[in-house]
Amino acid sequence: MPERIGFIGLGIMGRGMAHNLRKAGFALTVWNRTAARMDELVAAGAQAAASPADVAAQSDIIFICVSDTPDVEAVILGAEGVMHGAQPGALVVDCSTISPKATRDLAARLAEHGIGMLDAPVSGGSEGAARGTLSIMVGGPADQFARALPAFEAMGKTITHVGDHGAGQTVKGVNQVLVVGNCLAMCEALLFAQAGGVDLEKTHAAISQGAAGSWMFSNRGPQIIARDWRPGFTIDLQQKDLRLVLEAAEELGVPLVATALINNLYRTLQARGLGGDGNHALMKALENLAGFTVGEQPAPSAKVAQ
Ligand code: NAP
Repeated sequence: MPERIGFIGLGIMGRGMAHNLRKAGFALTVWNRTAARMDELVAAGAQAAASPADVAAQSDIIFICVSDTPDVEAVILGAEGVMHGAQPGALVVDCSTISPKATRDLAARLAEHGIGMLDAPVSGGSEGAARGTLSIMVGGPADQFARALPAFEAMGKTITHVGDHGAGQTVKGVNQVLVVGNCLAMCEALLFAQAGGVDLEKTHAAISQGAAGSWMFSNRGPQIIARDWRPGFTIDLQQKDLRLVLEAAEELGVPLVATALINNLYRTLQARGLGGDGNHALMKALENLAGFTVGEQPAPSAKVAQ
């Protein structure tokens, strides 16, 4: 019998991931806190559940993709949580980005009930979720990884078993250090290009395929040039991930100098009410320091972008 799949959390990421599980032919039961977000999955052939426990009762493998550590704890341990519906032998796969330590604690709690767990945070943005090309970094026992692999293959391209419980979240932290470093470098480079008076689109075309290229520059550079701040990944979620990385770094006693700086720049944007912008709106923090804007220019009176 093929494994029955459940999916909890149909946000920017979960929506695309759930659609790809359906496209791959898995029987799928979904739940989302805001119920209307389930409609399009139901139209695609999924079943809507009444609660996370209800998803778990109807599924062998239960995927979760919600925002932060307390949210994962709520959908697993809460009154109507997964733990109250899952059968012994079920497998919970958490694709959210959360604390490695909380992940190990959750895995231990679930194990007391005979329920397995993998941490499987993802990278690749909303585009990767929609196209089924995510990078998935997985922590947990090898046999559980093998069990979930066919479902991972429906959602991702680079699927790596990186270690035991929590290791996936640690590797995701490594990923985030690189993401924000690339983002700051991109913003600083475009600020320099603007000040130097060169055409930004030509600059992008000239260098994006060379040694300075990156996923960030290819995908978000054009958005900055067009002053398009729509999120693939919001500042609020990016800052949440940096908080998780910096907390873990504190526990490990390792200095992450640039990551701490970038975290503070994101904090300034949140203080300005810009937490819903895409993470590439880090540009606005640099513009605020420089006193001019980058890309398609607004009216001359508007010196610093909001
Ligand atoms: P999102 O669009 O904001 O969606 C968040 C989802 O979590 C929604 O379905 C939301 O339900 C649900 N949720 C939040 N708190 C909840 C709670 N307490 N109880 C039940 N449901 C709750 O976020 P996203 O971009 O899909 O990100 C989801 C996870 O993937 C995050 O951990 C994020 O860091 C990670 N991630 C995101 C990206 C990206 O590019 N977006 C990339 C890699 C990893 P409602 O619909 O009711 O609000």
